[in-house]
Formats: sequence, C-alpha cells, structure tokens
Amino acid sequence: MIRIGQGIDFHRFGPNRKLILGGVEIDYPLGLVGHSDADLLLHALSDAILGALGLGDIGQHYSDRDPRWKDMDSSLILSGSLARAQELGYYLGNLDLTLIGEEPKLGPYRDRIRTNLARLCGLEESRINIKATTSETMGDIGKKEGLGALCIVLMVKKGGPFSGTL
Ligand code: MG
Repeated sequence: MIRIGQGIDFHRFGPNRKLILGGVEIDYPLGLVGHSDADLLLHALSDAILGALGLGDIGQHYSDRDPRWKDMDSSLILSGSLARAQELGYYLGNLDLTLIGEEPKLGPYRDRIRTNLARLCGLEESRINIKATTSETMGDIGKKEGLGALCIVLMVKKGGPFSGTL
C-alpha cells in the first residue's frame, strides 16, 4: 500500500549546454552533457518513482539511442513516470532530493526548483525537500567535472489504508 523507491544519476559538465536543474535554468558557464536536457534532478526523481513500482529505470523507457528523446525536456520523463504510477493507482506521498557537487550553489535556486517540482508533480511544497552537499573536493565531482543527484520517494496507493494520511 506504500512503496519506497530510490534514484541516482550523474552527468558530466560540458560547454554549449544550458544547465537545467529541476526544470529551472541555472546561470552557470557550463551545462550538463546528455542525450536529453540532462536534468539529473528530474532523472533521479523519475527513476525513484519507477523503482518504487517495480517498473525498471528511465533508460528502459527513454533509451538514449532513441532520436525521439534527443535534447528532450526531462519534465516529459517525469510526467511519463507519474502517469505509469497513476495507471497502477499510486501517487507521490513525498520526495527527498539531494544534489551533489561543488558548483553551482543551489541556495539561490532552491525555492524556484521546489515550486517547479510541486507544479510538475501536483504535490504540495511541504512534501518536497531539496538538499545539496559537496564531496569535500574528493573525486571527479569534487573536481567540478559534473554533478550527481540522489532521490528517495514514497508512493501511496490510492484508496489504501495510508491514503489521505500521507
Ligand atoms: Mg540522467
């Protein structure tokens, strides 16, 4: 009746790309490289939703070899994952996202990203948490070569015993 899912994603920085985090464009000289718009917050969130419901991962549903998804807006991956959950009678209870990287600092954008995620997920902002951490300059992320993201979600069955309380 309630199911938990986790998602994880990494993307490398590259030139001539917009940096999009949680559907919000960030002012930064580099963007993330990927087949889609490389919005790793939305990728980790979508993977967590699919994971909770035993539906595999976004790579199975949105192959990076499929030209249809080239440079796509990752909010479509999220809405597709939410639609699959809805077909099974599940909705998002809450989500907790963590961005990992040295730069850019999330602070100035945190509220906008949260508001946008609330809109995309049809969820109250109080059920959405966005955190950031660094790797203390260790490893590739610590050398500012890219960013990582982790997400945990709780999915609640509509009409189930926890419905309405979570
Ligand atoms: Mg990704």
